[in-house]
Amino acid sequence: MKFNKLKMKNIYSYNFLIRIVFLLITPLFFQYFALGFIFHSFYWGVITFVVIIWGVLIFSTPLFGRIGCGWFCFFGTTSDLSSKHSIFKMKWKKPKLWLKTLYFVLFFATSITFYLINKQKGITHNFEIIPNFLELNFDQHYQLVWVIDISIALILGLLLERRWACKNLCPIGSMCSVGAKHSRLLPVIDTNLCTLCGQCEKDCLVRIPMLDEIKNNKGLITNPECILCGKCVEVCHVDAVKLKFVWDRTQHKENAPNVIDIIRKRNIEKNHKKNIKK
Ligand code: SF4
Ligand code: SF4
Ligand code: SF4
Repeated sequence: MKFNKLKMKNIYSYNFLIRIVFLLITPLFFQYFALGFIFHSFYWGVITFVVIIWGVLIFSTPLFGRIGCGWFCFFGTTSDLSSKHSIFKMKWKKPKLWLKTLYFVLFFATSITFYLINKQKGITHNFEIIPNFLELNFDQHYQLVWVIDISIALILGLLLERRWACKNLCPIGSMCSVGAKHSRLLPVIDTNLCTLCGQCEKDCLVRIPMLDEIKNNKGLITNPECILCGKCVEVCHVDAVKLKFVWDRTQHKENAPNVIDIIRKRNIEKNHKKNIKK
């Protein structure tokens, strides 16, 4: 399935606009709809609106990849904004599995502990679905948490590699990356057009090693850290990148030509033409 060509080229502009809107309205949501964060929803023993939304986004990662991380999360958006001005230009590093696991365990262990303490006090809600559970007076607290999260994201974006916290710390990101390994929606490079210029790798918001993926994977970007932002679509000078549904990866790899062979062939033809002109 292909999106319209004109719209596809602008996909990062839409992405950016949507993310800025979500970044700015998050505190308003907390103020007026008392939504609560995921961690807090656990320890009060309720299923809030935020838990429902992220539950849907996490369970749909095998189909839609990490659109939650790339299109809606205010923390991810803030770190992308500051990492553009990063002090250190760091290259892609694989997520550290031990750190991800440690943070994941800590997140759930502490939320379960708080839940059990609250349960003893008789103030939990047996995981009832109460979308707007938290009272307005709690929301001052959530706005403060929002400001703290934004500040942390800004600092990490300035000091560390792109989306370091998303790759190494965030438990929601860890869950999303498991499903995203099998995502049907992917950036797909047309290996007939790609020149291996490396611009998409340079500008990728997660600094995914695009060139390796293009060469070794017949143009399929299957890295589970991809957030489907569309930046690679925007920057490609030959319009070789599309976000597409690929239902059968094996079939795609069998049919797509190897980019190295195509470039070699192109160079031979170019040299041949030059020789004829001489
Ligand atoms: S990994 Fe976590 S912090 Fe990063 S964008 Fe996804 S949900 Fe947000
Ligand atoms: S590979 Fe493309 S869509 Fe994925 S994160 Fe990088 S720039 Fe965004
Ligand atoms: S920007 Fe386009 S041409 Fe350059 S490496 Fe990426 S996909 Fe290939």
